[in-house]
Amino acid sequence: MPELPEVEVVRAGLEPAVVGAVVTSVAVLDERSLKRHDGPAEDFIARLTGRTFLAPRRRGKFLWIPLAPAGGEALVVHLGMSGQVLLRAPDAAADPLTRIRIEIAHPDHGLLRVAFVDQRIFGSMAIDQLVETPDVAGDTVPTQVAHIARDPLDPAFDDRRFLASLARRNTGIKRALLDQTLISGVGNIYADESLWAARVHYDQPTSTLSRARATTLLAEVRLVLGRALAEGGTSFDAQYVNVNGASGYFSHSLNAYGQQGRGCPRCGRTIVRERFMNRGSHLCTFCQRIR
Ligand SMILES: [Zn+2]
Repeated sequence: MPELPEVEVVRAGLEPAVVGAVVTSVAVLDERSLKRHDGPAEDFIARLTGRTFLAPRRRGKFLWIPLAPAGGEALVVHLGMSGQVLLRAPDAAADPLTRIRIEIAHPDHGLLRVAFVDQRIFGSMAIDQLVETPDVAGDTVPTQVAHIARDPLDPAFDDRRFLASLARRNTGIKRALLDQTLISGVGNIYADESLWAARVHYDQPTSTLSRARATTLLAEVRLVLGRALAEGGTSFDAQYVNVNGASGYFSHSLNAYGQQGRGCPRCGRTIVRERFMNRGSHLCTFCQRIR
């Protein structure tokens, strides 16, 4: 499942190709990929055709391309488990498993094809209304994303408000990190990595986590996400760009996630995997103790 760094790679890869581009035609090859669009395929096609793309935005792992005029509507892209947004030359061979095909005309790059490819169809596209955010005047977000908190790489993320909400919660710290209404963009991998870096046990009650440790943890979340972003960047090529959201998590240097059985890079003791929320938590039980 793509997490924040992978989605940011997709967003950054799309940006130079789509800003200012006009949608010349839309083909919906599989209506299941419109499951989050409120209306039939004809409605999606009619509302997208002829529109101009503005700069793509991201919040956590949610991606959207606002449509001109600003503040009205946006094309929301849910990548789901296996969704990819591929930029192609207009005469390129069709990608297998393309569900939606959008042809665009860009003032500098000419004609391009945006292919939404999704093997398992958990992802989707939708045209959605933009609404003002409650915390930053003039900033907008699609209604489908409005319940998602800002992510920690968002310049408008409010550290003090986050730390205060955390202290009021009655839950374990990892559950809080995965709670998209509190902080978005932190999935299982980056939660385990930042908890290891901050030496915090995943089940530490948020109410007993000191302000200093919570502040350290938030800084580690940003470092881990920033490092993954730096390793996941792709470059833009006008004619053939693969902005594949699935680009390798596992190329990052991981200290805890998936490292069970190996030595903790800090103390040498064995990293273990414990069952947690139908998944797993990876930790060093020596470095990361409940305090
Ligand atoms: Zn250790």
